[in-house]
Amino acid sequence: MRIKSDLKVPLAKDSNGIFICPKDAVKGDQYFCPGCNDEVIFNKGKIKQPYFSHKVSDNCSNETIIHKTAKGKIVQIVTDYCNNNADSPLIVRACPDCSKITEETLSTTITSAEEEKKLNSGYIADVVIKEHDDIELAVEIKVTHAVDKTKETNIGVPFLELSGASIVEFGMRWIPLLDRLGKFECQHCEDSINKHMDLITQIADATDVTLPGAFFRTSYLVCWKCRKYILVFSWPHELYIDKEIEKIKPRTIQTTYSKAAGHKYKGNICPFCDSLQGDFYLYNEPDGPFFEFNCGDNNPESFQEDMKSLAIIADRPYRRMII
Ligand SMILES: [Zn+2]
Ligand SMILES: [Zn+2]
Ligand SMILES: [Zn+2]
Repeated sequence: MRIKSDLKVPLAKDSNGIFICPKDAVKGDQYFCPGCNDEVIFNKGKIKQPYFSHKVSDNCSNETIIHKTAKGKIVQIVTDYCNNNADSPLIVRACPDCSKITEETLSTTITSAEEEKKLNSGYIADVVIKEHDDIELAVEIKVTHAVDKTKETNIGVPFLELSGASIVEFGMRWIPLLDRLGKFECQHCEDSINKHMDLITQIADATDVTLPGAFFRTSYLVCWKCRKYILVFSWPHELYIDKEIEKIKPRTIQTTYSKAAGHKYKGNICPFCDSLQGDFYLYNEPDGPFFEFNCGDNNPESFQEDMKSLAIIADRPYRRMII
């Protein structure tokens, strides 16, 4: 009696080394295991979905099959793309700032992909994607073992880690488990910032409030009382600056008594009707312009980051409803 093997072969190689899935396989052709190169049997019946079966083997494991299939599949996909035989695979990531999902294609200048390539750092990458002799991207396949921290830090080239099982199943959509691809360029963030800058410039003109280029982080809202668009500001709270603020503040930041708070504080007032735009609303209500915003430090980099955050907050769907 033949002992049934528990080795699963989702994709087999044909005699040209091309990966074939069971639904595209042809009865009578020869197919091989990507893990150990043993011939596999193609089964196609009337009821069951077609599948490949693997003989019992000491030289093969499910882990090896997934790992080698994923590597080979990536090389095949990138090669097809380089030869203009297929679209680029998509690198699918969420923007770290706005959380929107972005799909990036590989660069059009990519020329090849190779398995098991030694890098200048001494590490061996599962797959490298190259532009001529230059390595543009290394891909690590995770089956059971993730890339360790030392390798992640010292690998020396942009890289991403992909799940072997997901590559075998969805080849063209690469969802990194980990990535070091350099700066994330997000069109959505860029659009939000441009829109925010446009709007606050227009509101500054309409309200005759000078737009501060530093220190005061600017957003906008509709005045709760007169329903006009106005600017509101947030700023770093450092004691020694507090004394200086009087000299540099926009005219709509004033010390005002707040009934809700029960005391006076330096806050934003409406340039049309002088109503205080309470800090509680600005910072704590989900549709407030500073909701979940923590003003950073008094330096240019922090100012830029904060303006980006405010643009993203201003562009949230439930904020847009007031426009
Ligand atoms: Zn095998
Ligand atoms: Zn973004
Ligand atoms: Zn008002």
